[in-house]
Amino acid sequence: MSYDVIVVGAGPAGSITAHDCAKAGLKTLLLEKSKHPREKPCGGAVMYRGLHILRDRFPAGLAERRIHGLRFILPSGEGIEFSSEKLIGITTFRDRFDEFLAHRAADAGADLREMTRVKHASTSPDGVSVLTANGKELDAQYLVGADGVNSVVARTLGLRPPRKNLQRVGLGMESDFYVGEDGAIEALNGNPSILEIIPVEGRVAYGWIFPKREHLCIGIAGAAVHMYPLRPAFDSFLRRVEKRIGIPLKLEKRRVHFLGADGISSINVRDRALLVGDAAGFVDPMMGEGIAYAMRSGVHAADVIARAAESGRYDRHYLEQYQRLCKKEFEANFAMAEWAGLKGTFFAETVLKTAASYHLASDIMAKIARGEIGYSAIPLAVLKDLPREIPRLLQRRVRARLNHSS
Ligand SMILES: Cc1cc2nc3c(=O)[nH]c(=O)nc-3n(C[C@H](O)[C@H](O)[C@H](O)COP(=O)(O)OP(=O)(O)OC[C@H]3O[C@@H](n4cnc5c(N)ncnc54)[C@H](O)[C@@H]3O)c2cc1C
Repeated sequence: MSYDVIVVGAGPAGSITAHDCAKAGLKTLLLEKSKHPREKPCGGAVMYRGLHILRDRFPAGLAERRIHGLRFILPSGEGIEFSSEKLIGITTFRDRFDEFLAHRAADAGADLREMTRVKHASTSPDGVSVLTANGKELDAQYLVGADGVNSVVARTLGLRPPRKNLQRVGLGMESDFYVGEDGAIEALNGNPSILEIIPVEGRVAYGWIFPKREHLCIGIAGAAVHMYPLRPAFDSFLRRVEKRIGIPLKLEKRRVHFLGADGISSINVRDRALLVGDAAGFVDPMMGEGIAYAMRSGVHAADVIARAAESGRYDRHYLEQYQRLCKKEFEANFAMAEWAGLKGTFFAETVLKTAASYHLASDIMAKIARGEIGYSAIPLAVLKDLPREIPRLLQRRVRARLNHSS
């Protein structure tokens, strides 16, 4: 047997898995069909809950902007903002970010082979095997499918159907626009440390403006069934944004990609094999945020595989610990996001608008983005922090009374 672990796909999920497996002393092969730096359709906003996995070994130059808040634009044009002194994430260009992660895995000892597309994967009681497009068969003890939303590993192992269920997948289109440094600041109302989220007219979908140093990433995403025809929807969204920010946007390339968000309810594990990141469907069903979840699932996968290897366990029952760890960490977030997504603009206009008037809401937003709490811990966080909010609430009430009587 040549390898302990084969990881297919060197995106954030695969590169983190391969890095941690190699660090745990496992002989790890990381296969990537492209050559880094390669393009990936994405807004490039990486939440701190994923970023902190890299600790301080993250090259500052990869962060285009340091992000401290979110602004939701209501259909009326009004903006609701949540911002924090704490760093909640960064924006980056995915080609360079993913290249860094793949090389980080290689530096940790993983054997990174680019331009190697996997065509088929299989498992047997004795091991796992993948067949590459150039006819090579590679073997290992464990297999990790990190090959994204169109995962060949997931399909050929029978963990996903051969064809996508369009009722269950998301679809997004985005592009980066050069606007210069001043343009990036101006477009975000003078505050380029904010991610702006905007509803898409007439659809259950949302759009975004994410600031980079000299670019804006602008895109739309939603459930695939609501996104067709995608190109006119994207173009009309762009025209609206252009009008609002007053900066001409020169479109160079539209990038489009599916998003899978069925990770919690699906089976992602079988004997000797598991799926991570988009291949597993670990994506926030409302915002389409997946990078941090991909990275976190990679950490859990490597952890469980390293322990399984130590105990000589290859069976699904042992590896299911991985799905339980992901479920525990992600489930409440995804459930809440799904609920909010179904409420659409009602959610923004009622819940968010009310929440924005409380300072505590920004603290909670920062804690969620930083991975300090999950959505299920919001009620507890509110109860804990409410006493600090009371003086401010009283002050506001008194001021309102005084204004009313004068
Ligand atoms: C339009 C859009 C905007 C988005 N914006 C954001 C955002 O701003 N923030 C955020 O957090 N998330 C965002 N996402 C989601 C995010 O891009 C994904 O969740 C994330 O990339 C998942 O990482 P991954 O490593 O699982 O998969 P991927 O990043 O897709 O990586 C998979 C890797 O596998 C390789 N591969 C594929 N097939 C094979 C094969 N057969 N053999 C070998 N290699 C293979 C690919 O080349 C790729 O390098 C967005 C998604 C879309 C579609």
